[in-house]
Amino acid sequence: MNSFDFFQIISSGYFVTFIVIYIVLTAGLGAWVADKKGYSPVLWFLMCLLTGIAGVIAISGVPSQIKETDSNDTSSEFWTCKKCQTENLGNTPACRGCGSACE
Ligand SMILES: [Zn+2]
Repeated sequence: MNSFDFFQIISSGYFVTFIVIYIVLTAGLGAWVADKKGYSPVLWFLMCLLTGIAGVIAISGVPSQIKETDSNDTSSEFWTCKKCQTENLGNTPACRGCGSACE
């Protein structure tokens, strides 16, 4: 009985608003992924505006331009608590397990 509601939503402008928000969010996601991979976020924002979710999939599939050098550094960024053996991030002043001070 409410079969015309869908068309009323389209004509009322809510549907257009929803599509615009969806496209901007999709483009924003693509720009964010591109930025993390070392590509131009502006270029990929525009690309995802035009292609939608396909652009996000495309930027997700391309290899990162940023060299993953922090894979070696991450081990040294942790310290192990002598009291409870909890692994903590290097910049954590106190153990998250027992609260004792670093080292
Ligand atoms: Zn501890």
